[in-house]
Amino acid sequence: MSMEAYFSDTCPSCNAAVGRKHDRMCDVARCLKTGLQRNSCNAAHRCGGDRWDGYWSGLQDCLIFDLTTDTGFPDLNRLYAEATWDPSSRRWRITER
Ligand SMILES: [Zn+2]
Ligand SMILES: [Zn+2]
Repeated sequence: MSMEAYFSDTCPSCNAAVGRKHDRMCDVARCLKTGLQRNSCNAAHRCGGDRWDGYWSGLQDCLIFDLTTDTGFPDLNRLYAEATWDPSSRRWRITER
């Protein structure tokens, strides 16, 4: 499936438009330090103001790295297991496979 199929004008949780920050309660917003869900981040840092970029967090990276389920859907569990979040580029990276 192409990436465009997953594009959404607004965040499915808080309705933020593309390029806008998620609201404080949004459960789609990711922590910019860990790449994981901001709502469930309890670390002693500022998680940062993540913005909606049109895609579910990590989804583009799944497709780039070809981490998909048997049915071709982006597999976020594999992304979290196999990739490392790079806070400076705000992207997931895979160094070895
Ligand atoms: Zn949101
Ligand atoms: Zn955090």
